[in-house]
Amino acid sequence: MALVSAAEMLKKARAGKYAVGAFNTNNLEWTKAILQGAQESNSPVIIQTSMGAAKYMGGYQVCYDLVKDLIDSMGITVPVALHLDHGEYKDSLECIEVGYTSVMFDGSHLPFDENLEKAKDVVAKAHAKDVSVECEVGSIGGEEDGIIGSGELADPKECKTIADTGIDFLAAGIGNIHGSYPENWSGLSFETLAAIADITDGIPLVLHGGSGIPLEQVQKAISLGVSKINVNTECQEVFAAATRKYIEEGKDLEGKGFDPRKLLAPGTTAVTELVKQRIEWFGSKGKA
Ligand SMILES: [Zn+2]
Repeated sequence: MALVSAAEMLKKARAGKYAVGAFNTNNLEWTKAILQGAQESNSPVIIQTSMGAAKYMGGYQVCYDLVKDLIDSMGITVPVALHLDHGEYKDSLECIEVGYTSVMFDGSHLPFDENLEKAKDVVAKAHAKDVSVECEVGSIGGEEDGIIGSGELADPKECKTIADTGIDFLAAGIGNIHGSYPENWSGLSFETLAAIADITDGIPLVLHGGSGIPLEQVQKAISLGVSKINVNTECQEVFAAATRKYIEEGKDLEGKGFDPRKLLAPGTTAVTELVKQRIEWFGSKGKA
């Protein structure tokens, strides 16, 4: 199946009260792991690259070609969207040109009026090519590819103004944080989420920092309109843990255990397993 925009899959998710997982990729192994997890779960999926990961992989064109070609060679039949995560304005435009089917223009750190103007421009250019658009209001705490946010709660009125530009889905700060959650984290603000959902006319909402939010909170967020959940840190953690175990058990020293295809296999399998687990949590299993 060819890459698709994320607009339709998230509209369906919002209506069906489930969420689609958006998993960040970093390389060949992760891309295969995410695709395989989604295929085995018969679930739609969003593969996303941060600007930093795309640079690491050799640029947006490489990411696009990799995902597109793996969909063909692996015989993937579930809907897959390729999405830019936390894109600056110029990166959003570049991804639209290269063939990404979805972009996040993150102007949350800009003055609100500038965020709004640039969002309108990205929407016009993206929609001309059937590319879906995510924007963010109220910066999300923790580390966002080098941007540190304070974890503020988004202003519902600003959310409404950005939603009215015609974007396809909206990320808003509701107490969520990128990276690991601290011990004293006060949890998601369901009041803020409900107020945003109320005022934004059914637009699918996005939960960033989906790693480490307890299941009950995830499910409550979905019931209030969250339709896309970003998972990154947890994939990194399970990949590292499985790789560490392989080396600590000395398996790289047995026979040809140092072969990178063997060395990276446990981590890759761990990412596939996590993707499948999260797809169950989010309720998108069988929804392809
Ligand atoms: Zn994020």
